[in-house]
Amino acid sequence: AKENGSSQYQFYDSVRDQSSLEQMILEDDLEAAVDNDQLRLVYQPKIDIRTGDVIGFEALVRWHHPILGVVQPLKFIPLAEKTGIIVPIEHWVLRNACLQVKKWQEEGIPAVPVAVNISQIHLMQPDIFENIISLITELELDASLLELEITESAMMHKEDHVIEILEKLKQAGISVSMDDFGTGYSSLSYLQSLPICCLKIDRSFIRKITTDTDSRAIAEMIISMARQLGLTIVAEGVETKEQVALLRELQCYNVQGFYYSKPVSAEEAILDRGVWTA
Ligand code: C2E
Ligand code: CA
Ligand code: CA
Ligand code: CA
Repeated sequence: AKENGSSQYQFYDSVRDQSSLEQMILEDDLEAAVDNDQLRLVYQPKIDIRTGDVIGFEALVRWHHPILGVVQPLKFIPLAEKTGIIVPIEHWVLRNACLQVKKWQEEGIPAVPVAVNISQIHLMQPDIFENIISLITELELDASLLELEITESAMMHKEDHVIEILEKLKQAGISVSMDDFGTGYSSLSYLQSLPICCLKIDRSFIRKITTDTDSRAIAEMIISMARQLGLTIVAEGVETKEQVALLRELQCYNVQGFYYSKPVSAEEAILDRGVWTA
């Protein structure tokens, strides 16, 4: 038994070594990723389940590492947040998402907004508002075609500062959604004071919505509260038709999830657009 235990220990140890080696490589290379043109965007549609129409896209970043291949955001976004590299990464994401919408518009494809994720560190940058405005001015992009997603927990940090930025964005015509709602314990009064347009119900509730009565009750409560506050609701991580049916029953009509589409390249996002209108 003792021998067994020690070889098991060795096994875990080597797994850990491997993943920390990977982390070291990633940390080293991440800084150059933006400059070396290794980032790519994929787009996941948001769907109105009543019509099947695409009502918007969320832009999600991928890192095409020369040796490791495609690195998913959960492997490098936390690292990027820790080191601050997230700020230049999100500048790149913002610019490229805006360029893509502009391109679709120029190609005569019916324009829908694209949402970009903004981290807490980026939100705290003193020049964030000016940067976003000068970007859309430079690209001559209609402000209503850019949306921002900010997590509930990021919004709860330095509340006065957050409210001030969100007010300015709203006045400039840029909508903000609260992302991962239900995971951050924000108070009802704070929620009411925020100039946001939309709540995205976190995937963790949607995942269990048809099997777990507590999750269903929470989702139901969030949806009716959002309605009271005049906010739009988007359900994240919808994977099954049972979830779609239940959300329809709860009158939550905007969804995002693998049931309709995984995040795909800009080209595929457009090719697929007719398919849902059925
Ligand atoms: P998020 O903002 O909550 O984005 C949604 C994530 O859920 C995406 O993962 C998407 O692929 C995944 N997803 C969508 N539908 C389903 C579904 O039906 N089932 C399941 N299991 N998953 C689904 P992804 O692309 O791996 O991104 C993960 C997280 O990385 C994002 O979560 C976001 O927090 C972060 N992220 C991605 N790009 C950026 C960025 O530019 N800036 C920041 N700060 N974070 C980003
Ligand atoms: Ca998001
Ligand atoms: Ca989310
Ligand atoms: Ca999430």
